[in-house]
Amino acid sequence: MTQSDTIFALSSGQGRAGVAVIRVSGPAAGTAIHALTGAPPGPPRLMVLRDIRDGAGATIDKAMVAWFAAPRSVTGEDVAEVHVHGGRAVVAAVLDALSKIAGCRPADAGDFTRRAFDNGKLDLTQVEGLADLIDADTEGQRRQALRQVNGALGLLYESWRARLMRALAHLEADIDFPDEDLPDHLPDALRGDLDALALEMRAHLNDAGIGERTRDGFHVVIVGAPNVGKSSIINRLAKRNAAIVAATAGTTRDVVEVQLDIAGLPVTLADTAGLRDAGDAIEREGVRRAHQRSAEADLRIAVFDATTWPQRDAATAALVDDATIVVVNKSDLAPACDVGAALAVSATTGAGIDALIAALTERVRAAADAATDAPPITRLRHRRAVQESHDALTRARGANAAELRAEDMRLAARALGRITGRVDVEDLLDVIFKDFCIGK
Ligand code: GDP
Repeated sequence: MTQSDTIFALSSGQGRAGVAVIRVSGPAAGTAIHALTGAPPGPPRLMVLRDIRDGAGATIDKAMVAWFAAPRSVTGEDVAEVHVHGGRAVVAAVLDALSKIAGCRPADAGDFTRRAFDNGKLDLTQVEGLADLIDADTEGQRRQALRQVNGALGLLYESWRARLMRALAHLEADIDFPDEDLPDHLPDALRGDLDALALEMRAHLNDAGIGERTRDGFHVVIVGAPNVGKSSIINRLAKRNAAIVAATAGTTRDVVEVQLDIAGLPVTLADTAGLRDAGDAIEREGVRRAHQRSAEADLRIAVFDATTWPQRDAATAALVDDATIVVVNKSDLAPACDVGAALAVSATTGAGIDALIAALTERVRAAADAATDAPPITRLRHRRAVQESHDALTRARGANAAELRAEDMRLAARALGRITGRVDVEDLLDVIFKDFCIGK
């Protein structure tokens, strides 16, 4: 299977639909359209109405056909899009007819995007952004992914790499033509720029993980003594918020999660085993997990009981910090209870649940707003590479031999080049494209 294959696949969703889009990409795309429609492709970037025929000349469907001549196409190759009626038999017949055309084969998962990358249409951050855009469930995820598809992150890394390469060029010139009078061969302006670059990298790394959290979800954990009403509160929140995914059932000792859409950002809300002095080993494990989840969470909801308030469960109270929303549940049983700055709620009647959602929204939004205008890191892969680049750059600044300094600068540039896919990425590609499905 070489690049000169022509690939085809259903690019719209599986199953019955008003319209289905079949994409064809490669050198035989024009021949394929000619074979299917009895005429050469129409003018580029215009839809034309054509009868689609099978190999025996029988009409399969009427279709809108769009033609994109290389290199002005999504993959950089000749591309045709055939918009047929979205019935299963229609789609199957068109795919079957395409498979009988010389040089055409069904696309593998991610094939179209892989070709776009190989032809320089997308860098790796854009490829990853495209995967995120297709997976986006919330507005925040969509906006972030679109920005990455549009190249904002790739441009940032490429601009950093260009600055490193410029400094490196100076260094290499100095190594070839050493100037005995200058102990530090980097001109002041360049040295200043490298220091500024290291600072920018640190700021980028210290973004509190907002990009990764927007992509993977904010983690909120609900803690409290057994029977204080944690599961009931989660159920209330999930119903009120129209959870993205319904609550995953589990035993009371398991960690139960629901996915919420809060202010356009995905929030994973986890219930935990009640905090208490556990008896048996399984229960102890549940409590251990509850503590671990609580420690890893971005936010906590600590639940206390209105019927015993202001007496508070000590194990839960010990977990309350700045990143904790304090809730006093079962307010229906103690209507006169004064909860002070805490939120009084009743999972049974639903009282106070809107205020709890508002408090959650405010916290999540505050975390999101803390992000700078610069495009955020969205993956651990980027974070590691930027850190590596930053560390190499810092070493380069401290090196006292020009050759060592140049070597560290090369490493710094290389680490950034790996993010966008400019340098040695073969080992990365399979990992990145494995999440793509057929037709992408
Ligand atoms: P968890 O162990 O903390 O998850 O607590 P559950 O959600 O399982 O609730 C324990 C018990 O308290 C159940 O019988 C609930 O029906 C009851 N409960 C929960 N929230 C309320 C509430 O706001 N008011 C009243 N009256 N009962 C509640």
